[in-house]
Amino acid sequence: MKSQDIRAKFLDFFESKTHQIVPSAPMVMKNDPTLMFINSGMAPFKEYFLGNGTPKSNRIADTQKCLRVSGKHNDLEEVGYDTYHHTMFEMLGNWSFGDYFKKEAIAWAWELLTEVYGVDKDILYVTVFEGSDEDGLKLDQEAYDLWKEIIPEDRILMGNKDDNFWEMGSQGPCGPCSEIHVDIRSDEEKAKTPGAELVNMDHPHVVEIWNLVFMQYNRKADKSLEKLSAQHVDTGMGFERLCMVLQDVKSNYDTDVFTPIIREIEAITNVEYGKDEKVDIAIRVIADHVRAVSFSIADGQLPSNNAAGYVIRRILRRAIRYGFTFLNKKEPFIYRLVDVLDKKMGIAFPEMKEQKQLIQNVIKEEENSFLRTLDQGLVLLDRVIKNTSGNEISGKKVFELKDTYGFPEDLTELILRERDLSYNKEEFEKLLEKQKGKGREATAIVADDWVTVLEDEDEEFVGYDTLEVDVKLTRYRKI
Ligand code: ATP
Ligand code: MG
Ligand code: MG
Ligand code: MG
Repeated sequence: MKSQDIRAKFLDFFESKTHQIVPSAPMVMKNDPTLMFINSGMAPFKEYFLGNGTPKSNRIADTQKCLRVSGKHNDLEEVGYDTYHHTMFEMLGNWSFGDYFKKEAIAWAWELLTEVYGVDKDILYVTVFEGSDEDGLKLDQEAYDLWKEIIPEDRILMGNKDDNFWEMGSQGPCGPCSEIHVDIRSDEEKAKTPGAELVNMDHPHVVEIWNLVFMQYNRKADKSLEKLSAQHVDTGMGFERLCMVLQDVKSNYDTDVFTPIIREIEAITNVEYGKDEKVDIAIRVIADHVRAVSFSIADGQLPSNNAAGYVIRRILRRAIRYGFTFLNKKEPFIYRLVDVLDKKMGIAFPEMKEQKQLIQNVIKEEENSFLRTLDQGLVLLDRVIKNTSGNEISGKKVFELKDTYGFPEDLTELILRERDLSYNKEEFEKLLEKQKGKGREATAIVADDWVTVLEDEDEEFVGYDTLEVDVKLTRYRKI
């Protein structure tokens, strides 16, 4: 089943259950000082759950563009290294605003997965909230009993407060959730460990696909819980992960959401995906980041030195650096991927089609300017090396290269290593810490799901410490 049909089937299914289908909200938040980017399907509906305003329908379904690169949900470091976390991804969701509750949400999720999509029941596991002493809450018996009717009990697992209790923030609507996990391991992999043990662990082939949140409490300022008068359902399913399952592949990057982009990267850079893990990571990073950056630009957020724009600039620079370092690409090429991306996504997301030219121009310009920076950095580094006696360069020089010229320290390290040189890391780290401290005070407060952004257009945004763009030259794990 093609990804386009998978998306359409989700929406058709919930339409048949009398949900109103709405388009994705822009990924970039405007007018909300508490959140920079939409990071879940629920975010655009936040106000309804808080009781401010009423939705057009009490049943809604959609696919929502999400970006998880800052705040509580920051998956950036995983992207490329694993095969199922993206920066930008689509979250398929269905909502009940004070309408249906656990019974329907669970029954429909099961019906859609096993009957409409035909997922083999034997690869599914579910989790339910086990309760929490801290809050005086018991097992979510209601959910457990509903699941018991449809899935063998040894496939119902207990989840703790961290994984199976959702809260909007330190106050407000909250409640237990039930997650659906898939086990797509090969027989060989299965022989090693039983599946159930791997749920909620970091295994690339036992992954969470759908989270069903049941909002039934309100967390008050004194931390106590009260029952909500109206109960709500909020579900989120990772579209790319669903495609992985339905297309019978072991990685999101092997689905038709990503393969056209990867083929294009291979053609442009003359490398082959699947031969060398370092190269593969770089390819996955680039294929992922071009989506994040393109959709952000399509939604009106261009790379810049301020707040959200700076986050986007750094994501793009991260992609450029992976290309520069591992694919040996010293001239702009990421903008050339926008064409295939548009062919894939432009029908479901017309903003991509409409803004294609702008997206290409902006990315190309950014690539040019950052590649110039990297070139200049190489010249400067050469000079530093010439003026250094001994085998160690001062940490201050490496910091200056990074701070003043934007030349990243791990690239410096790589070049130094090639010449049997090193630098004083301790000194470098001290200077970096000092600067980060300043940046943190001046820019962002991370709180729960929401990131508070100080709006000051004149002031240069120093950066989020949670958004590291550094390319890890050594850390890559086999999958
Ligand atoms: P995980 O535990 O895998 O990080 P999560 O519990 O953080 O996922 P939720 O906040 O429950 O994710 O979001 C709902 C669904 O969105 C998940 O079940 C998953 O399918 C999908 N999802 C979450 N984060 C990502 C991501 N970074 N890339 C792709 N899909 C994601
Ligand atoms: Mg997560
Ligand atoms: Mg999870
Ligand atoms: Mg989850």
